[in-house]
Amino acid sequence: MQENKTAQIAVLAGDYIGPEIMAAGLKVLQAVSEEGRFEYKIHEEPFGGAAIDQAGDPLPQQTLETCQQSDAILLAAIGGPKWDQAPKRPEAGLLEIRKALNLFANIRPTAISSAMQQYSPIKNEKPVDFVIVRELTSGIYFGTPREKHADYALDTMRYTKEEVQRITHIAFQMAQKRRHHVTLVDKANVLATSKFWREIVGEIARDYPDVTYDTSYVDAASMKIISAPDQFDVILTENLFGDILSDESAEITGSLGTIPSMSQGSDGPALYEPIHGSAPDIAGKGIADPISMVKSVAMMLANTFDRQDLATEITDAINETISKQIMTPDLGGHANTDEVTQAIINSIQESR
Ligand code: ATP
Ligand code: MG
Repeated sequence: MQENKTAQIAVLAGDYIGPEIMAAGLKVLQAVSEEGRFEYKIHEEPFGGAAIDQAGDPLPQQTLETCQQSDAILLAAIGGPKWDQAPKRPEAGLLEIRKALNLFANIRPTAISSAMQQYSPIKNEKPVDFVIVRELTSGIYFGTPREKHADYALDTMRYTKEEVQRITHIAFQMAQKRRHHVTLVDKANVLATSKFWREIVGEIARDYPDVTYDTSYVDAASMKIISAPDQFDVILTENLFGDILSDESAEITGSLGTIPSMSQGSDGPALYEPIHGSAPDIAGKGIADPISMVKSVAMMLANTFDRQDLATEITDAINETISKQIMTPDLGGHANTDEVTQAIINSIQESR
């Protein structure tokens, strides 16, 4: 990102709690940007169920064009029972936008700060802070043939060299911004695709001498995420393993409502969104946890706009808010969305 250029941000609030947490995220973005610290313009567009209601399509052309012309995309959450009978479901829009923007890398951080430690189901002494870089658009979920017969069934795990190379670079570049450590998670003692990944990733690792590179079998890695998660910095893995490990990792942080994610391609805008869904059960009650969305904003500032300074201000403010026990019910608190959001903003303003 060039400095002094106004950041263009596409905003897709979506459905159910989507607009509630998006409003919170945008308020925090505004607070952290005050006094000329960060210049940006938001472009709000309908997406998901809201777009079906308005335009009969979960991803209207106008929404896609706005996203393509933006530097980054903020998405809250889409879908829900209201569109169960719709000919095209809201989630179809998500697959379309991933495809249109070629978002092949999904990045999920797992962090347990000292403020959050008491809400984690695991007992770890050291702070936990790692990210999973998951290949999102290939592997066994997409490979053909896929067949189910009376006596047997089969799926196909297939990767091309280029698919492995491009995500590997993303993982190593991410490590350079973090603690300079990449762990490739695979099943190279059994799977041909895993042996293939090891060859390619091992070769690329030599181009990043400042990054420590090691490997772990997925069964061992899944244990380590529980027993010694502080050992990880960047986990690089294929689609299926990444799907499972990222849900396991979400669980050790204590709440779905606090975790952001990022999806990116080789160029073009990245998309930032909470990992959870639209939570229809709590929509309209004003009690949705805004932290996942606020952290998505922080992730955007750090990664797309190189503003780690602002991202750190936000995460520090979140930690302070949690330390003061100002939390929504998902974390066992009694505060509502607005109170948590305001507490985060107050903490940002007081720290200046
Ligand atoms: P999807 O299929 O879209 O992932 P889901 O059915 O898995 O959706 P979510 O919408 O993610 O479900 O919600 C799962 C549970 O977590 C619900 O009880 C919901 O209320 C809760 N939840 C999700 N996000 C939040 C949040 N930000 N704050 C509080 N609770 C949340
Ligand atoms: Mg779900």
